[in-house]
Amino acid sequence: MKRTGIFFAYFQGERLRNFPGALEGLLDKSNVSYYDAAYGSHDGLFYLEPVNEHLLLKVHSKNMIESVKRTGDYESALYSAGGTVQAAEEILRGDVENAFVFTSFGDHHAGRDFYHGMCYFNGAALAIAMLKEKGIKRFAILDTDSHHGDGTRDIFRLNADVLHVCFCDQDYSDDYSNIDVKIPYCTSDEAYLAKIEQVFIPRAEAFRPEYIFWEYGYDATRGEYGDKGISRDFHIRLAELIKTTADEICKGRLIAILCGGSRRDVAAYTIPRIIAILAELDGRSQVA
Ligand SMILES: [Zn+2]
Ligand SMILES: [Zn+2]
Repeated sequence: MKRTGIFFAYFQGERLRNFPGALEGLLDKSNVSYYDAAYGSHDGLFYLEPVNEHLLLKVHSKNMIESVKRTGDYESALYSAGGTVQAAEEILRGDVENAFVFTSFGDHHAGRDFYHGMCYFNGAALAIAMLKEKGIKRFAILDTDSHHGDGTRDIFRLNADVLHVCFCDQDYSDDYSNIDVKIPYCTSDEAYLAKIEQVFIPRAEAFRPEYIFWEYGYDATRGEYGDKGISRDFHIRLAELIKTTADEICKGRLIAILCGGSRRDVAAYTIPRIIAILAELDGRSQVA
């Protein structure tokens, strides 16, 4: 079994209403650690730490940070992105081996000087900025949210040490380790998984990242606002594939970050199963 960290921050929206209740059967496992922001409900006991402004300024502009402050969501955005930074730290320390990070405001539409789609701060980019200070050099980001990860691309566009493979609405590649793969409407689970195997896996193997970040958006699921035709079981099969890859190429250092998706039932179905796969717990990860 792997030691898996769950980093939980939930501030608004409907999709996570079933959580943390839906994690029942996982939280009591000895190899699963739970970090909770417990924001506003536990008398100031914050187990999950917010991002500090010093780190924020390594990724985002002062103007953008000031503009997030004016939204009224600033503090909760700090906790939301903080989960990814803390997950990366705990993995580096060896306290956990991989992680699933819940976000309310995340992640991939936050660029250096802009944000949209309620993605205020880029948790993966902040975690990478922190890890670079500690001597980690190479990173891979896999983005399977339905939409283009424009914020992440903006931050790492000219950075060849970060492999950014984004499955979205266009085909693109350049000399700076940036790749987009078009996923058309009405794509089958098999066709999408085949593209991951053809494009992401060999690139990641050749790139030798020390960490893999997976922007886990489920908004490409049938019936979602970014519907590409895939079933909810697609995400479970994908999690197996990514975890196996991380185990083979980067000592299992994998951080799954919740990105887009709105349906409560898809969240409640997929997330516990993905965490069970990360933690190598039998029984919970089976597809229906
Ligand atoms: Zn999206
Ligand atoms: Zn893209």
